[in-house]
Amino acid sequence: MTTSYAHILKPLHLGFTTIKNRVVMGSMHTGLEDRFYHYPKLAAYFGERAKGGVGLIITGGISPNRQGWLLPAGGTMNTLGDIAPHRLVTHAVHKHGAKILMQILHSGRYGYQPFVVSASPIKSPISMFKPRQMSDRLILETIQDYAETASLAKKAGYDGVEIMGSEGYLLNQFLSRHVNQRTDRWGGPIENRMRFAVEIVKAIRSKVGEKFIICFRLSMLDLVHDGNTMDEVITVAQALEKAGITLLNTGIGWHEARIPTIVTSVPRAAFVDYTAEVKKHVSVPVIASNRINMPDTAEEILAAGKADMVQMARPLLADAFWVSKTATNRVDEINTCIACNQACLDHSFQNKRASCLVNPRAAHETELVYLKTKKPKKVAVVGGGVAGMSAATIAASRGHQVTLFEASTEVGGQFNLAKVVPGKEEFHETIRYFKVQIEKTGVDLRLNTKVNREQLEREGFDDVVIATGVIPRGLKIDGSDSPQVLSYAEVLRGAPVGYRVAVIGAGGIGFDVSEFLLKPEHQPQPQPLAEWQREWGIDPNPNYMTEGGFVPAEVEPPIRQIYLMQRKTTPLGIGLGKTSGWVHRAQLKKHAVKMLRGVQYKAVTNEGLWIESNGHDQLLRVDTIVVCAGQESVKDLMPKEGESTLANYHIIGGAKLAGELDAKRAIREGAEIAAKL
Ligand code: NAP
Ligand code: SF4
Repeated sequence: MTTSYAHILKPLHLGFTTIKNRVVMGSMHTGLEDRFYHYPKLAAYFGERAKGGVGLIITGGISPNRQGWLLPAGGTMNTLGDIAPHRLVTHAVHKHGAKILMQILHSGRYGYQPFVVSASPIKSPISMFKPRQMSDRLILETIQDYAETASLAKKAGYDGVEIMGSEGYLLNQFLSRHVNQRTDRWGGPIENRMRFAVEIVKAIRSKVGEKFIICFRLSMLDLVHDGNTMDEVITVAQALEKAGITLLNTGIGWHEARIPTIVTSVPRAAFVDYTAEVKKHVSVPVIASNRINMPDTAEEILAAGKADMVQMARPLLADAFWVSKTATNRVDEINTCIACNQACLDHSFQNKRASCLVNPRAAHETELVYLKTKKPKKVAVVGGGVAGMSAATIAASRGHQVTLFEASTEVGGQFNLAKVVPGKEEFHETIRYFKVQIEKTGVDLRLNTKVNREQLEREGFDDVVIATGVIPRGLKIDGSDSPQVLSYAEVLRGAPVGYRVAVIGAGGIGFDVSEFLLKPEHQPQPQPLAEWQREWGIDPNPNYMTEGGFVPAEVEPPIRQIYLMQRKTTPLGIGLGKTSGWVHRAQLKKHAVKMLRGVQYKAVTNEGLWIESNGHDQLLRVDTIVVCAGQESVKDLMPKEGESTLANYHIIGGAKLAGELDAKRAIREGAEIAAKL
């Protein structure tokens, strides 16, 4: 082996088949699985990842019957007629030497549809539908449905199936006392609670024969009350092995758990020691998951013998060529998943097609295409934030001659502010990725260069992309020009801030700034794992005896007293990401941040900030006021409508629209314009 990632690249022999390396693209619902006419797109999406070198792919969840649907009429495989579109997918993957499993997912009480069933009739906090308790007969029928689905998957060309038994879906509901309160042979002690899962494995094995992969995804740590202990998890793992599984995949936390398991503030590989504990007790290969996003982390896990394979779903959305870049020592070219969830899981939960914030091509491979140009153009991109870098590097990779002008000393724009927020260290990786791309694609980067229109016209550019971004919106009340009033940009760049602070504006940045101000300036970044586990109350013992893996949380006292406020009367943070907003709200609550809504800002005086709240004037005695009141576009370079110019002008990102400034749109608009030039 000539690279330093020998463990990642080592084939895994399963006896009847071989997986070419240790990287598994984990299951992620893209929204393309549910309709047959989307399968050409799904095949292109998986085909690109297979071409990028991944060893094993697991599809998004496909239901074995209609009670198992996640959404009405979700992807199902229970008739011969269902298999034709899947053949496009298996063919696209096999063409590049990768293997693919179809995930069989029965959502149980997580289904967002009226047919939902579960172990016991207990409603989940994340679906409005109360489940019907499964009868003995329905359980037996469902076991047969799983076996039939697996056999159809085999006919569709899959190398195996994954049975989804974690994250709180149906089989996890049976495995744990959290939902399973039955007293029949499917409930009670763990030997009964696991019967359903074990019988499914046996039924599938007897139907599909020996030469077909059966992977079971088992919850290592439920993180819900009355969840399993590690002893119980091991008992289930051993029984599944005996029943005939080929691979044991791992999951962490139910979807309803109120402990973060995948967001960016979760330390990398935070849960791998629980997987390592189970691995000691089984002989089938075990797959580690959750917050593994870069080759060094993956290699460390495998080299330490903590797992046999590593699973990454989001990192392979972010970069389809993660494995081939690793194999050819081009790790610095990996477009790293920053675990923001903004374009993947948040989309899935809103029933929108998943994509990726840092890679808008993900799941749009047939629509957003970066073809080599036949007519190279001279292109200027003004602004080195993520929108500008996205436009410049993609245009240059297509063969255009690109100059990127950046007024400041460094590229990165708003990401340079975000990267200093505790728990957002991954944002460094995006800046690193673009810097490497700028170099590799030959973009002529001109830092410290504030261009004007005359210069742009004089240099003879064919196209000019305005990506000049935003400036923070100021506060316009009496006293707002006093020195104790700072913008969020000044604070995140290190301006001194007092002990008592008022944060004006409770959007994503108001929350970020509050988190930044709660912690000491020189705290280690990223947060050490043990400290993070203490803060969230996760049992650090891999052989935990606590049900669900909880211990009481221990929160360090905050170093500042913070008021976070907004004018709207809605709850604060309601507009934050669906899968990450609750983490930010919980963090601020734990650190005693006072949240005020329906506030009017009156004046800043030497005493502090005067506000009106509930019809009364009130003085908040604060030392510093931080304004996080959104942004205004910077677009002076954009010609007015009808104005004649030599070049074609385009405007993208925050410069185009500050109101909904967000990196997802900025990077996508950069990519879209670059694809069209
Ligand atoms: P934002 O989400 O639009 O929030 C701006 C805040 O300022 C609101 O709370 C708004 O509430 C307040 N505001 C607006 N105009 C004001 C005025 N004239 N005076 C006083 N208050 C005013 O913008 P942001 O927080 O700057 O974030 C920008 C974007 O960055 C977001 O859209 C998001 O996509 C992204 N981002 C997301 C996250 C995350 O999800 N964790 C983190 C950082 C950034 P009222 O109008 O009710 O006062
Ligand atoms: Fe990762 Fe964010 Fe992309 Fe999802 S949207 S794959 S979390 S970078």
